[in-house]
Amino acid sequence: MAVGKIIIAGNWKMHKTQAEALEFLTVLKSNVEETDEAREIVLCVPFTALSILSKSLHGGKVRLGAQNVHWEDQGAYTGEISGPMLTELGVDYVVIGHSERRQYFGETDETANLRVITAQRHGLTPILCVGETKQQRDAGEAESVIINQLQKGLVDVDQSKLVIAYEPIWAIGTGDTCDAEEANRIIKVIREQLSNQKVTIQYGGSVKPNNIDEIMKQSDIDGALVGGASLDPVNFARIVNYQ
Ligand code: PEP
Repeated sequence: MAVGKIIIAGNWKMHKTQAEALEFLTVLKSNVEETDEAREIVLCVPFTALSILSKSLHGGKVRLGAQNVHWEDQGAYTGEISGPMLTELGVDYVVIGHSERRQYFGETDETANLRVITAQRHGLTPILCVGETKQQRDAGEAESVIINQLQKGLVDVDQSKLVIAYEPIWAIGTGDTCDAEEANRIIKVIREQLSNQKVTIQYGGSVKPNNIDEIMKQSDIDGALVGGASLDPVNFARIVNYQ
């Protein structure tokens, strides 16, 4: 079941050379030939793999995503990437405000908001990540933390071209998945904050072939943002082809 469009996205983080990316794609493609067209498949890859994947994806059912976009179109911003640079390569999606960007690279709700607005200005669909730490969850603050992230991250944002990923930080890369019913409960809380009820809201955090069926059974979960398990094409295809 789902409320919004179903989108299963892989987040490769800082993994795979161009050669490895092509090898992955060959196996993935052969495993998603029968996948229901209603399921959007997205690969959010390092900048260096975008160009080569873009050429190989052209016309296929897999879409391309980036992992960051700067709010200026050009300028003295060493190490950043701009909207026009991404759209030129046929990128459709961009992950914004991932907890690793927040934790290691100083991303804030305010900068995430600027990036979301800029992504939309260039026709990219932002995947805005929100989620609480273990400490915040234990203190009973999960809902308030997420609502605050949304209020700040969605200022002046067009909700007709937006994806939100609920990613509890304690579940990312830990193998410690959030219980599917609890993820669904929080995703309902997120939906209550939105003016457009059809926004795709994904769950992310140790999604694997063995838990995706339960996750996608939930009423309000519209897809998944998958880190570790998206690095193996057979595993990722199994996730995309959830029952
Ligand atoms: C992520 O990187 O967004 C993520 C959810 O990672 P993992 O699936 O490895 O927990």
